[in-house]
Amino acid sequence: MRILAIETSCDETAAAVVEDGRVLRSHVVASQAAFHAKYGGIFPELAARMHVEAIVPVTREALSQAGLSWEAIDAIAVTYGPGLPGSLVVGVSFAKALAFARRKPLIAVNHLEGHLYAHRLRVEGNPPEDLPTPFLALIVSGGHTELIWARDLLDHRRVGWTIDDAAGEAFDKVARLLGLGFPGGPAIERIAREGDPQAFPFPALPKVDDPLWFSFSGLKTAVLRAVERFQGQPLPVADLAASFQAAVVEQLVTKTLEALRRYEARAILISGGVSANQLLRSEMARRAPVPVVAPPPWLCTDNAAMIGAAAELHARAGRFASLDLEVDPDAKIG
Ligand code: ATP
Ligand code: MG
Ligand code: FE
Repeated sequence: MRILAIETSCDETAAAVVEDGRVLRSHVVASQAAFHAKYGGIFPELAARMHVEAIVPVTREALSQAGLSWEAIDAIAVTYGPGLPGSLVVGVSFAKALAFARRKPLIAVNHLEGHLYAHRLRVEGNPPEDLPTPFLALIVSGGHTELIWARDLLDHRRVGWTIDDAAGEAFDKVARLLGLGFPGGPAIERIAREGDPQAFPFPALPKVDDPLWFSFSGLKTAVLRAVERFQGQPLPVADLAASFQAAVVEQLVTKTLEALRRYEARAILISGGVSANQLLRSEMARRAPVPVVAPPPWLCTDNAAMIGAAAELHARAGRFASLDLEVDPDAKIG
């Protein structure tokens, strides 16, 4: 089964053709990150407008890269949520119009399911086999910090989440504070290599009611206070970045391992933009008692290939959407 998948939940306009949930026939992503950089974050109205401009050429490119005509496509899949309302509307309206005009079944995919099943694609850097269930997933990006327990395929439960900022958002805000630009994660990781992670004793574990809840606002404030203490004198940016990064990683790893004590799992999956972070990958692998899998970074940030991989599971279960499909910006998984 060949699925044309479309993803516009945030600031990437993406289309891909995926065969049988595993073979990637084409993969196109138009990132708007550079356009949002001057606002220091994602500007929702600009994102929606740019999706409108990009969606047709991106989809055409995905089909032409795959070398396929419409006849060869069996279904259209699209992300219906969670995400930015205006951005989601562009992808969902376009996918519905395509499904109607080309008479193809429509498949609605939760964005987080995409992150969960990106690992099924048979590409370099992915595991040779699908993860065994049950598995635990830590999805960390600019908009999400979620611990998800996958009891079985498409049988998920959200077991941990953030009560304030997402992990990627914390990276972006602290990067701005340190004058490092947007997106902040890669910038912080780069400069942190030259810094001492123990230079500043930032709080790694927040005071929260449930040990599986995440919180980054206290950490962010601690970095702000440390910066203020320099009163305009040159900042030890590398030390601040390294200490901040170490605290974030400590929180992410500690809570994932706590979830592993509560929920039986045979593997840990890390995905989302923040999972590109090498310290997170290596610390998780070093401390976890089960195998840790992280798709290659290009599959961990938003893309449509992962939506096609998840969509195939829905198709196999006979779960199709109607042309009345609406976006759900706050869609929960499971
Ligand atoms: P969504 O939350 O809907 O998945 P998004 O666009 O916010 O969408 P991604 O594109 O998956 O999220 O990831 C972007 C985020 O990942 C940014 O916050 C960025 O700072 C962070 N990030 C990227 N690379 C790294 C890294 N090496 N270390 C830490 N954070 C990173
Ligand atoms: Mg993004
Ligand atoms: Fe995402």
